[in-house]
Amino acid sequence: MSDIKAPLRPKRKKIWVDYFVQFRWIIVIFVVLPISFTLYFLTYLGDVKSERKSFKQRQKEHDENVLKVVKRLKERDPKKDGLVCTARKPWIAVGMRNVDYKRARHCEVDLSAFRNVLEIDKERMVARVEPLVNMGQISRVTVPMNLSLAVVAELDDLTVGGLINGYGIEGSSHIYGLFSDTVVAYEIVLADGRVVRATKDNEFSDLFYAIPWSQGTLGLLVSAEIKLIPVKEYMKLTYKPVVGNLKDLAQGYLDSFAPRDGDQDNAEKVPDFVETMIYSPTEAVCMTGKYASKEEAKKKGNVINSVGWWFKPWFYQHAQTALKRGEFVEYIPTREYYHRHTRCLYWEGKLILPFADQWWFRYFLGWMMPPKVSLLKATQGEAIRNYYHEMHVIQDMLVPLYKVGDALEWVHNEMEVYPLWLCPHRLYKLPMKTMVYPEPGFDLHRRQGDTQYAQMYTDVGVYYAPGPVLRGEVFDGAGAVRKMENWLIENHGFQPQYAVSELNEKSFWRMFDAGLYEHCRRKYKAVGTFMSVYYKSKKGRKSEKEVQEEEQAHLEPAYAEVDQPAD
Ligand SMILES: Cc1cc2nc3c(=O)[nH]c(=O)nc-3n(C[C@H](O)[C@H](O)[C@H](O)COP(=O)(O)OP(=O)(O)OC[C@H]3O[C@@H](n4cnc5c(N)ncnc54)[C@H](O)[C@@H]3O)c2cc1C
Repeated sequence: MSDIKAPLRPKRKKIWVDYFVQFRWIIVIFVVLPISFTLYFLTYLGDVKSERKSFKQRQKEHDENVLKVVKRLKERDPKKDGLVCTARKPWIAVGMRNVDYKRARHCEVDLSAFRNVLEIDKERMVARVEPLVNMGQISRVTVPMNLSLAVVAELDDLTVGGLINGYGIEGSSHIYGLFSDTVVAYEIVLADGRVVRATKDNEFSDLFYAIPWSQGTLGLLVSAEIKLIPVKEYMKLTYKPVVGNLKDLAQGYLDSFAPRDGDQDNAEKVPDFVETMIYSPTEAVCMTGKYASKEEAKKKGNVINSVGWWFKPWFYQHAQTALKRGEFVEYIPTREYYHRHTRCLYWEGKLILPFADQWWFRYFLGWMMPPKVSLLKATQGEAIRNYYHEMHVIQDMLVPLYKVGDALEWVHNEMEVYPLWLCPHRLYKLPMKTMVYPEPGFDLHRRQGDTQYAQMYTDVGVYYAPGPVLRGEVFDGAGAVRKMENWLIENHGFQPQYAVSELNEKSFWRMFDAGLYEHCRRKYKAVGTFMSVYYKSKKGRKSEKEVQEEEQAHLEPAYAEVDQPAD
């Protein structure tokens, strides 16, 4: 592997969009950042207002709002109004899909009032929250109580509804699985207006298992009960540099959290948090975290680093210093650690504002960071959006842990994107086969990281401009994504649907299992009311003809090969 060479590509002629993207920072500094800051502040005030209401009041408003949703669904005239989706503006969602279905005819249901934390139940260790509660909001409520959601996605703006119906992960997912694996109950409004509570062992257990990855195409989520865990005030973080070829880096990553003796559930051997950043084909920094009390953190000689201050170096650059200074340990306040990638949007901030990592910018304007992803999307026209599809990659490849080395080599050869983000997560063997599922028979191999009940996967996060684009060479972005999707299908991998996809319907259902999903679509009468998950996820504008075809889809067999679970 050490002798891999990226293919030679011819030079590309610059067009006007290249110059626009190069100078986009002007719009970002003078328009996007001030508006973002104002919006963050207004959202914060909204959260404070919500927190001042009693839990009883919040519950009362919740019940009233659920009734409004039910009424709206019942009022819908299927012939005139089209299929149902939420009224959330397409650009507000963090995901990179175009959300083109919202430009076509559809019936909007307004869920904007569903943004309250309804209950923190310390006895059951469960938080009951509405779907628009975001990660910044929930961690602000729970962390001062020394509690946390088991999986807190890093970016403040990500919502509970999006992380459940779409995809959510964090450095604790090697213990708890994906965000949706930490949910104990969903409150769903079904197509016929019924409001049901689905848990893993009640009469709606099939719905419970089918909701994750379904993109809101089985019903509208109005609240979720999510597992809480006890946490401490600080994260003791160890930064360990690894050098070698990509296979060596992959092994260093595996060894950072998966004991070779298979003792994966031993809290002494397995860290609370894991992430690795690969900075080049030969350099990585593996980070492992353990919760620590404030007494421990404040002991003489320990280094406390409050990474959340606006003037601090960006987290990924700070971690990179381990390559020069060697392994080091520091204590980071827990909430600041959770949201460590928010201010610089992982490393995307460097492309958007190339000088925002410099000390003078951080000190004088860093408090306005980050630009809201939603506003960045709102201020880019069609041409810029298409440019990003071709010249930029934002994709997550979920691959079995033992294939991480192969995935890294594949990314190097086809995309050459650095840094790369590695974050492990469990894929559970569940009583029902869900859209994503572990490799059949994985438990016989006893591979590093696996247990009898879950296969260890890894998210290989590929976010940045590819090497060829940075060098001014020709790059076929759509072609690279197509190849990546095929690679994932061949290697039992998955692609989160928030990213731009080139899959046709047949290939989509080769990547994901359709059985339980299609069964629930029919059983809960979602067909003809909610869009299908493929239609919702696919790239491109949706014409009236396509809308009509989608509405009629339940009359024709889909590409999905459906194994019917028993009702
Ligand atoms: C820059 C960037 C950074 C990211 N960082 C992270 C990260 O740190 N961690 C992580 O896990 N992921 C991350 N992601 C991916 C992100 O998790 C997905 O985009 C997630 O699905 C979207 O979050 P959202 O809150 O914007 O949801 P949306 O895009 O609004 O929703 C996702 C899907 O869920 C459906 N949905 C939402 N609410 C409801 C509801 N109430 N009822 C029914 N359906 C509903 C929507 O219709 C949509 O289909 C990132 C993505 C980007 C582009």
